[in-house]
Amino acid sequence: MTAAQCRTKIVATLGPSSSDHATILALATAGADVFRFNFSHGTQAEHAARYRIVRQVEAEVGRPLGVLADMQGPKLRVGHFADGHITLETGAPFRLDLDETPGTTKRVQLPHPEIIAAAHPGSVLLLDDGKLRLKVTTVGRDFLETEVQVGGPLSDHKGVNVPDLMLPIPALTPRDRENLAFALELGADFIALSFIQKAEDVLEARELVKGRAWIVSKLEKPQAMENLDAILAASDAVMVARGDLGVELPPEAVPLAQKRITRAARKLGKPVIVATQMLESMITAPTPTRAEASDVATAVFDGADAVMLSAESAAGAYPREAVTVMNRILERVEADAGWRALMQAARLEPEHHVADAIAGAAQLVANTLDASTIVAYTHAGPTALRIARERPIAAILGLTPTLTTARRLTLVWGVHPCVPDPAHHAHDTESMVSTAVETGRTSGLARAGDTMVIIAGVPFGVSGSTNTLRVAKVPDSV
Ligand code: PGA
Ligand code: MN
Repeated sequence: MTAAQCRTKIVATLGPSSSDHATILALATAGADVFRFNFSHGTQAEHAARYRIVRQVEAEVGRPLGVLADMQGPKLRVGHFADGHITLETGAPFRLDLDETPGTTKRVQLPHPEIIAAAHPGSVLLLDDGKLRLKVTTVGRDFLETEVQVGGPLSDHKGVNVPDLMLPIPALTPRDRENLAFALELGADFIALSFIQKAEDVLEARELVKGRAWIVSKLEKPQAMENLDAILAASDAVMVARGDLGVELPPEAVPLAQKRITRAARKLGKPVIVATQMLESMITAPTPTRAEASDVATAVFDGADAVMLSAESAAGAYPREAVTVMNRILERVEADAGWRALMQAARLEPEHHVADAIAGAAQLVANTLDASTIVAYTHAGPTALRIARERPIAAILGLTPTLTTARRLTLVWGVHPCVPDPAHHAHDTESMVSTAVETGRTSGLARAGDTMVIIAGVPFGVSGSTNTLRVAKVPDSV
């Protein structure tokens, strides 16, 4: 563990550009905390090979690393064309049907009867990440007649977005179910669910996951924005998935959606990841645009738990540079007095339970005594999540007896997760203090003479029992 880790976490997607040991080690060293495995691409064997390398790298860097398995979800696509591609003329009619025959400039297969059933005249279909736009004129039993509102080239299996329709489709496809089981078997710490529309979608996945990973709901549909509170309540964490969200919503709606989601997640103390196109130009260039640097900084100013790299680290020419640049932006913003003041000013009302009363008090005590570290003893994570929710100035050391919890805490704002040596697991208040001091010192977070604030649930080993606050001084010598 290095004390130089930023409060804001970095999620880096792995892919063809970042699947060897040297690159993954470089990404972790440059500041990546969580590695995202994108199950829309690659084979299970490729994911398994990456998983083994991440765990090897974890041992080498000496701090827990998270693994986020991202399920493709019900991504809608058109069929294929006789020549592989066509050009749609603006103003021309174009038919979508269930017929598998290769498409022409007049029609193509849309192998999703649910869309045909839910559409009505006036419904809009967006193709290829929103580049093309069709408006439904007639709804047949097994076809949609449309008018091309924005034309352009269209090729095989391009994506389809239907922003104004709530589709009666499950959030997990049969392929997702296979990948989900596979990812859990591997040991993924987080399962991300794509195109969530409502809380029931999350609850359905929860029955399969059975507590073996945290569930990250990707918010990328207008319907999800309408059901935001219920989806948040059902999820362990959320992702502002600006790629698809920005196709389904007009671009000017995305910044406010990002702020709304971030605020709502922080209020509940659930981790929130800001994702997609953060350093997009770095797919092909070793430096970002100024606007991209500002975009990353905005997420940090919003108090997001994590920022994410997609193709920049997975398929671009500069994966190491992308993580390095992102980390430098985080460091720079987090060193700013204005940012610290903002994190404190934006503090949230405690919820009325003991854990929040203790977390609120820990933050006050730490500020009053200018403590360098708040140590949170946590079994399954809640004590660390509640103190992270306060966005304190002091560093947070999350001490947990289980590696599973430590790995989940890699996604949480400000938390340095650590599993103390079993011989030093806290079992009474005496060992609680000595282990906190010892781990604080070896992790480099606390130095001789520093004040530490320790919070825990006593008796130890009982989850959800946070009730104790202690102040300790790091002695001058061991
Ligand atoms: P994706 O999700 O990259 O899996 O599509 C993220 C997004 O849509 O922003
Ligand atoms: Mn998406």
